[in-house]
Amino acid sequence: MRGETIRKDNAPSVTPNLSDYDRARSAFNWSQARTVLSGLPGGGLNIAHEAVDRHSGPGHGEKIALRCVSRDNAVSTVTYAELARRTARFAHVLRSLRIGRGDRVFTLLGRCPELYTAVLGTLKNTSVLCPLFSAFGPDPVEQRLRLGDARVLVTTAVLYRRKVADRRASLPGLKHVLIVGPGAQELPGTVSFDALMSAAPERFTIPPTSPEDMALLHFTSGTTGTPKGAVHVHEAVVAHHATAAYALDLHPQDVYWCTADPGWVTGMSYGIIAPLVHGLTVVVDEGDYDARRWYRILAEQRVSVWYTAPTALRMLMRTTPREGPYDLPRSYDLSALRFIASVGEPLNPEAVVWGQEVLGLPVHDNWWQTETGCIMIANFAACEIRPGSMGRPLPGVEATVLERGESGRALIADGRVTEVESPDVEGELALRPGWPSMFRGYLHDDERYAASFAGGWYLTGDLVRRDRDGWFWFVGRADDVIKSAGHLVGPFEVESALMEHPAVAEAGVIGRPDPVAGNVVKAFVSLRPGIEPAADLERELLAFARRRLGPAVAPREIAFDQNLPKTRSGKVMRRVLRARELGLPVGDLSSLEGPS
Ligand code: ATP
Ligand code: MG
Repeated sequence: MRGETIRKDNAPSVTPNLSDYDRARSAFNWSQARTVLSGLPGGGLNIAHEAVDRHSGPGHGEKIALRCVSRDNAVSTVTYAELARRTARFAHVLRSLRIGRGDRVFTLLGRCPELYTAVLGTLKNTSVLCPLFSAFGPDPVEQRLRLGDARVLVTTAVLYRRKVADRRASLPGLKHVLIVGPGAQELPGTVSFDALMSAAPERFTIPPTSPEDMALLHFTSGTTGTPKGAVHVHEAVVAHHATAAYALDLHPQDVYWCTADPGWVTGMSYGIIAPLVHGLTVVVDEGDYDARRWYRILAEQRVSVWYTAPTALRMLMRTTPREGPYDLPRSYDLSALRFIASVGEPLNPEAVVWGQEVLGLPVHDNWWQTETGCIMIANFAACEIRPGSMGRPLPGVEATVLERGESGRALIADGRVTEVESPDVEGELALRPGWPSMFRGYLHDDERYAASFAGGWYLTGDLVRRDRDGWFWFVGRADDVIKSAGHLVGPFEVESALMEHPAVAEAGVIGRPDPVAGNVVKAFVSLRPGIEPAADLERELLAFARRRLGPAVAPREIAFDQNLPKTRSGKVMRRVLRARELGLPVGDLSSLEGPS
């Protein structure tokens, strides 16, 4: 499918924010992007002021900020004015507990309205927010609370009892546990969030906040190893705002839904901050993935811009394959939807085309990391899509490809690196530091932070190639790339090809050491519902991949596995496939999806 492009012939219902790519890039600079925000009345920059308070006055205050769909489908709404009051109360609550600037406040909550109050109230108080995904088990929760120096935890009685109570004694730094909803009385060492909130005043003056003040602590997904704590500052809001305008094409009238949990950077930067800074109505779904539920939310909430993940799209594709009847999505009114984007993993070309055919809109892939804090490379509303490509750098972002050394990472000689000049050559993706949401450190790991930079670039750890027109194509993570018989094989290309076969739902590809070839390519494949593993299917898939990829790149071995190991944010953990295959220790599994 490579080489095919998607042109969007349907006239867009709104004029895209970025209509001419080259012009937007040359006209852009970050200091000007900052002037679009208001800043604190007394100077300084605070994310919560930009996201909430500046929209809370007459004219905008009555607008719905959050439209929350509960697990049992009840819809409740919170206006901007109400969000301003609730977050002010929470900032007072923290102050009354003597929690101040830089102190760490953790949330361990489902996607309920109180989560939004706690996040934005913490930022108002100039304390630091660290969100935890509520499905984490006790070990990952404890590990992150300890690593992140948690002083306050906001959670529910059920989650506290299951995941924290037993470990509390080993967390002496955790001074306050605030319980949302009932149950605080029965739990020693906790207080009621609701009681504290109702006693607190509903006006709060945000203290002076420097753009460089620490605002957020985000743990990475743990796909390649132990999760790292990335430190972000208030200035990041400049990048959240600008990139959401360009890469997600947000407009004031949009109803916006980001399916990522705020426990991950996507759910925070683009699930909470960016859409609120744009003053939009944000749909918050407390429930879990379910194809019918999702189509219903898109339809009933009249979602116009939808930001999701490849794994979720592939789950939808399993229930509505391209070659089948499209009854399921067709039975919902998706006419409000005008823009779809995805992030987190490579988006296989099949998924882009599926969007176009089944939903009537292509999916716009974009690329970024916890460390970058905002979208760096994207497919834009006004530009052609090359399915399988993650697009081009955003205005304000300078990206390049660096020559690789033996280790697979960028070759660093005397502190210098070399940019790849020719098109279509694989190398490490690097970014020029200086964008506002760049991480300012790895928590407690200055050495690793320092090692992420060389020759004036931030080294991403991802391998890519750039085509002659400047589009970036993801090859794989440096750790996942396979050297086989003198060739460099990116697992994504192999996985994508396999996923074009109608029997295949998902695939994870690794190198299995081999005395002759160095490594042979081995694919683990999960099948669409109703399809059974069989020896002929295995032969058919091997032949199918060989026809598409050629013998040097195609897998030599296929194993069927309906439960590919994934992170809780939905990424295939190739390191776990590799460790299992080789009988090696699997390493940190704190982000692994599965029963907690
Ligand atoms: P860890 O750093 O702990 O191993 P992680 O890298 O998965 O985990 P995140 O910061 O959540 O943690 O994910 C960023 C990574 O996800 C990127 O470096 C890249 O490998 C992958 N990724 C994100 N978006 C895309 C995309 N559009 N195409 C391909 N890969 C992507
Ligand atoms: Mg990473």
